[in-house]
Amino acid sequence: MPPRLQRFRMRMMRFDAETLYIPGKQQTSADALSRAPVERPGMDDVNFVDEVESYASTSAINLPVTMQRFEEIRNAQKADEVCAKIRDYCVQGWPDYMPHNPILKHYYEQRGHLSVVEDLLIYDERIVIPRALRLDILERLHQGHLGITKCRARARDSVWWPGLSKSLEEMISSCLTCAIHRQEVREPLMSSSFPSRPWERLGMDLFELKGKSFLIVVDYYSRWIEVKQLQGQSTMAVISSLKEIFAVHGIPDLVVSDNGPQFANENFRKLAEEYGFVHTTSSPRYPQANGEAERGVRTVKALLKKNDDIQLALLSYQASPLQNGLAPCELLMGRRLQTQVPILPHMLLPRVQQPDLTTVREKEEKYRSDQMMTYNRRHDSRELPELQPGDSVWIRDQSRYGKVTQKAQQPRSYHVQTEHGTVRLNRRALIAVQGQPTKTRVPESSMSNDPERPDDSDESDSIGSQRNQQINRKQPEGASTPTAATETRTQSGRLVKPPKRLSM
Ligand SMILES: [Zn+2]
Repeated sequence: MPPRLQRFRMRMMRFDAETLYIPGKQQTSADALSRAPVERPGMDDVNFVDEVESYASTSAINLPVTMQRFEEIRNAQKADEVCAKIRDYCVQGWPDYMPHNPILKHYYEQRGHLSVVEDLLIYDERIVIPRALRLDILERLHQGHLGITKCRARARDSVWWPGLSKSLEEMISSCLTCAIHRQEVREPLMSSSFPSRPWERLGMDLFELKGKSFLIVVDYYSRWIEVKQLQGQSTMAVISSLKEIFAVHGIPDLVVSDNGPQFANENFRKLAEEYGFVHTTSSPRYPQANGEAERGVRTVKALLKKNDDIQLALLSYQASPLQNGLAPCELLMGRRLQTQVPILPHMLLPRVQQPDLTTVREKEEKYRSDQMMTYNRRHDSRELPELQPGDSVWIRDQSRYGKVTQKAQQPRSYHVQTEHGTVRLNRRALIAVQGQPTKTRVPESSMSNDPERPDDSDESDSIGSQRNQQINRKQPEGASTPTAATETRTQSGRLVKPPKRLSM
């Protein structure tokens, strides 16, 4: 219960009320009680009220661990001229008009949200941060170098001051670390189904960074991410790390991974059998099945690169609300986690009631369908240039080269000669390759080329994710690209920026 309501309820304790239900038709005179005059309270009443007040305020903020932090904020609020004034207004009442003071005006407009609890000025359930502490808090909010949306969502849970959102934006846009690592990575499409509960379905993947191997496990439901550094890449190392994770969070129903040798083997099959979960590997044709884990790998790699203290960065991620309004920790554990951002203690209490899962599901579905629409709109607008007989092409879903022999009768289709004979293919399945194909398996144009809208949504998933895989996996090894020129353009004429090589 928010402290405002809690205090309100406790103040009501001084009344010894009895509620009787009398149907309206039996009431002869309406509403007499509410107009009955009350005698002035006696000394006993006053004392009792004081007791209730002090009880109410201590129960609102009572965790000793955070006391020191609050003390610091409280002192800073008192030392701050503006905050001190606002505190006075909250306690003694606001004036009818605010004198022309632009700074106070911001608070005046928000006066309905402001109150003083346990000597601490708060905005609803957020702590009002005085000027002197704002820079520090901004840095804490941006801890982990998360993006603006996540940082704002973190602030909404914990702290407030006029113009907070704008200062956050300014800070992030001028953050050097973020600027260096800002990469235009397009979100791949999400898998369509959403699990019904936490830790039911997990995605799993391996990655290497700076010579170290990591196992990453992502919960499809909460997007909680577990990262374990592996001693080598052996199956046994993976299995032992996975067991550690299960020891904390329990055994899932389903684990999805790619076909990597650490996962597709007898030992792993035994583990699945012994522990009682189903292990599926994403098929080469539908690698998007493991999209959640791949997205997780991207998130974690970015965190690892941008932060010295990876655990703290990971904590920031787990504690930051997702698109659906709830943080991974809330979805998985039903409670918020304390981070370096100050937060009122009662906000950290576990939820007695589960968050409204129907709403979460609806928001997830909407988010997913919005993503899909944006994706489709973006790719709808691009008409691919015609191919000419003799053009070399890369056939996406067959992963091989071919040569266009002629335009087919069907719109946007071509006959393409491959080593397995001539086939008719939709233009969207083809990527024009400049010059003769070299021995590099994936032509550069397939990475920079905008993927076209496929004919059905299943394929669209697979293309989005294949592309994503190429970005993740092929680029680092794609040192020898078919085109030697330093400047490359796509078919639509857009300048292709050379991919940032992962320094691993
Ligand atoms: Zn940053």
